[in-house]
Amino acid sequence: HPTFTKLLIITTVSGGGVLTFSDASPFQRSITGASSQNEGKKKKVVVLGTGWAATSFLKNLKSSSYDVQVVSPNNFFAFTPLLPSVTNGTVEARSIVEPIRNIVKKKPYNVEFEEAECYKIDPVNKKVYCRSNQSSTLDGIEEFTVDYDVLILAMGARVNTFNTPGVEEHAHFLKEVGDAQKLRKSIIECYERASLPNVSEEEKKRMMHFVVVGGGPTGVEYAAELHDLAFDDMAKLYPSAKDYLKITLLEAGDHILNMFDKRITAFATDKFQRDGIDVKTGSMVVKVSDKDISTKERKTGEIVSVPYGVVLWSTGIATRPVVRDFMNHIGQAKRRVLATDEWLRVEGCEDVYALGDCATINQRRVIEDIAAIFEKADKTSNGTLDLKDFKEVVGHICERYPQVELYLRKNKLKSFYDLLKNAKGDDKKQIDIETFKKALSEVDSQMKSLPPTAQVAAQQGEYLAKCFNRMELCENNPEGPLRFRASGRHRFHPFRYRHFGQFAPLGGEQTAAQLPGDWVSIGHSTQWLWYSVYASKLVSWRTRMLVISDWSRRFIFGRDSSKI
Ligand code: FAD
Repeated sequence: HPTFTKLLIITTVSGGGVLTFSDASPFQRSITGASSQNEGKKKKVVVLGTGWAATSFLKNLKSSSYDVQVVSPNNFFAFTPLLPSVTNGTVEARSIVEPIRNIVKKKPYNVEFEEAECYKIDPVNKKVYCRSNQSSTLDGIEEFTVDYDVLILAMGARVNTFNTPGVEEHAHFLKEVGDAQKLRKSIIECYERASLPNVSEEEKKRMMHFVVVGGGPTGVEYAAELHDLAFDDMAKLYPSAKDYLKITLLEAGDHILNMFDKRITAFATDKFQRDGIDVKTGSMVVKVSDKDISTKERKTGEIVSVPYGVVLWSTGIATRPVVRDFMNHIGQAKRRVLATDEWLRVEGCEDVYALGDCATINQRRVIEDIAAIFEKADKTSNGTLDLKDFKEVVGHICERYPQVELYLRKNKLKSFYDLLKNAKGDDKKQIDIETFKKALSEVDSQMKSLPPTAQVAAQQGEYLAKCFNRMELCENNPEGPLRFRASGRHRFHPFRYRHFGQFAPLGGEQTAAQLPGDWVSIGHSTQWLWYSVYASKLVSWRTRMLVISDWSRRFIFGRDSSKI
């Protein structure tokens, strides 16, 4: 694009290679630099993690010009959207995981896998320090280092406890397959213990009180799943315990599912009320002990103590310690989340990319860019622009930041968008920049970071793999394909997220879906859409068959309540 055409090409004879720098294309700098050093040697790409982002990268990488080394404490990929179904036995844990060695076995590149966790990243010497999670059996040989040419961080995030006392010790999380299995066991344990003779009424009430902290999609789905388990299956199996059952959902904000459309939030709240799930908004957990949760009520400031049997903590995510440590070393100590540019390259660091939940694309630069474009327009136009010029300015913004276009197409700027879309080249209508700027300032406040979802992580993995697939071709033809030569276009587009919508399963075979274009669908038919989308998204035919047979088993025989 004409605005982003700064391209500086330096040709050198050193090493017989061509060294190409471009401030427009970050890939060039890192990769060509490495190639001139390691002439004839394959580049070593180290991938940390086997989650959504890493697996999508590994699946889509098709070039044989890399040696890939994967390091992760889990030797499998887990389909996290079905974790809530594992907590109540609708789906078995093994049905939603696929060994990473299976996923990469037929790939054209060399690949090795190490079951270990990375505990330190040294970007200066291009090394990662790893520790096997089987350290107790390895007798001192559990630590090793891995050198890299290119490092891909796809380590996800940890649960955010907000340093609330007692959460680590007493609450359950729902992030990993092991968490879901533990949660399932604890719930069944409560039913069993509440059914024992000589247990006091008070103790039964406590044990049968299941509390979910956090009204986001995971908390809401879990509460719904728990309700289904309790009423569809456990009520028949544990008739004496069922009268003591209580499910509470605690949310510190004003409403649950706050990232969804208001219609979905209202439907979910009403449904939970009808189902007897106690939704308490404005209730912030300040402490968790082994038997009680203390909450601070926002309206009254009162501290309330709630006895519980099982508590699930699901209040969002935070940066992993190893990533935090890395951020401190590369000058990102003040940031909350590791920042990358739009090509997913870690800011302030060479040859390191970060994808998925462990990083975020630095949005402040987006806003600065928009401001700069307007400043330029202001200086040349006395506060008004011809429609043609204006269309060009907005075109620049939209091409670079698709989320701005998305925003323009709806809300208050729809009329602007339509005007621009329908404008002819010679249209002379004047547009008041101030008005537009005011409206655009709303974009600033609305342009939040991309959500930490599997959808984003998978698209980023695919995007990066496609860039890596074309890297060699670009190195060999630094002048670029014919059609781009004159324009000085980027070698690679910045990452663009395509939102395909999101689901919120609400129990009782009902699901809410918010699809692109703000299309909302709620009910039983949407549940079938949910079944088909998730069945199609599973990573292999093996897991697909297993999950479908689990769903069928549940329909015919109900859920399994064995405590194994
Ligand atoms: P992850 O998938 O978490 O993968 C991180 C990987 O890094 C793992 O393999 C882990 O073992 C590895 N790792 C961890 N520490 C280290 C280390 N020190 N060294 C090396 N490797 C390490 N998103 C949706 O879009 N739709 C949904 O319906 C949905 N439902 C969800 C339900 C639940 C219960 C949960 C928990 C999440 C859900 N998400 C959903 C969010 C989604 O799972 C995450 O956004 C996604 O997993 C992020 O992918 P990732 O690759 O960044 O991280």
